[in-house]
Amino acid sequence: MELIKDVDSIRKLFPALDQKVNNKSLVYFDNGATAQKPLSVIELTDKMNSGVNGNIHRAVHELSARTTELYEGAREDIRKFINAKEREEIIFTPGTTASINLVANSFCQEFLKRGDAVIVTEAEHHSNIVPWQMACERIGAELRVLPVDNNGEWMMEKLAGILDDKVKIISVAHISNVLGIVNPVKELINAAHKKGVPVMIDGAQGVVHCKVDVQDLDCDFYAFSGHKLYGPTGIGILYGKREFLDRMPPWLGGGDMVGTVSFKKTTYADLPLKFEAGTPNFIGAAALGEAVRFVRSIDGDFLKTHEDELVNYLTNSLSSINGVKVFGTSANKISLFSFTVEGVHPTDLAMLLDKMGVALRSGLMCSEPLMTKFGVTGMLRASLAMYNTVSESEYFIDSLKRALKMLS
Ligand code: PMP
Repeated sequence: MELIKDVDSIRKLFPALDQKVNNKSLVYFDNGATAQKPLSVIELTDKMNSGVNGNIHRAVHELSARTTELYEGAREDIRKFINAKEREEIIFTPGTTASINLVANSFCQEFLKRGDAVIVTEAEHHSNIVPWQMACERIGAELRVLPVDNNGEWMMEKLAGILDDKVKIISVAHISNVLGIVNPVKELINAAHKKGVPVMIDGAQGVVHCKVDVQDLDCDFYAFSGHKLYGPTGIGILYGKREFLDRMPPWLGGGDMVGTVSFKKTTYADLPLKFEAGTPNFIGAAALGEAVRFVRSIDGDFLKTHEDELVNYLTNSLSSINGVKVFGTSANKISLFSFTVEGVHPTDLAMLLDKMGVALRSGLMCSEPLMTKFGVTGMLRASLAMYNTVSESEYFIDSLKRALKMLS
């Protein structure tokens, strides 16, 4: 198959990009929140909703067989995409948040006891803080925090001081949704494994911008969402090493996750179904498989060069605007820029830019502890995807300058 190597060809596959918002051509720079969908994903979703629709794993009829094949086919394509060893290690969930909650509940029930500890970093999304906090409160364990420096980078030198025998799991973001820095996850995993502690990676942003190989990373869990990876909403993945998943109790009970059921004793299904109770979002899962096939149809070298070009342009242009402060600079940064402008409220700026057709995120970015660390009550964020261009970035910078003039 010929791989796609240019941004114009990619853009043609995304109907959402070709629209006007507030009478202006849309410049969609909120991909960190959710990405637009390519035609292949839309078409498969439509096809299934329009008739290739029968509940999976349950019936002998043709439609059920076809949806089951699409569902399990997607699982296999996703396994290949992140290079998991076995298909049983790929669990469909409603998304990153659900995947982290699954582990925080099920893993902690089995492996965490009163007095133990869990480590997260100061730069996590609320989805990778609150589920652990809830589990720790329930069990009587302690949530420890690895701090970040003034640039938002993990203070690895502080890890040894908090990584003692009480720690039973560490959960960290591959890439922060605020800072866009690719974190040294491999280094952290090595340090944790030396102490026999498993590591969960929140890959909501990481899987979109990095080539993920879970065996090479040697992470114990990896979570991501379909909707940020050009797939549908309401579907995501939990990858887990079999050695842990096998020992973890089911979290949700219901149909499809059982062996035999009686009022005396119920036995559970093997992996992966043990963690997929009830009718899953099988159309979403099949379409996530399609999204992964779409990503694999784009040339990897092109993606890298294109993203570097966007990062260079925005790093230079944003830093040349008076009063702009970008949070998180690094040689290892993705095309995601959170910033403040002195004396200007982020939401006012975001609203003005919206009128100019530029969609940005503003506010706490679901990362309140990090905002507190930086002493701000909100930021603006421009997060780009593979279909965004340098000329859109130029338009964004011009619009930002115009908006700042209007507010001054
Ligand atoms: N972690 C990170 C780093 C994220 O960026 C997000 C989404 N903004 C999440 C977790 C939560 O993802 P979802 O809302 O799709 O469950």
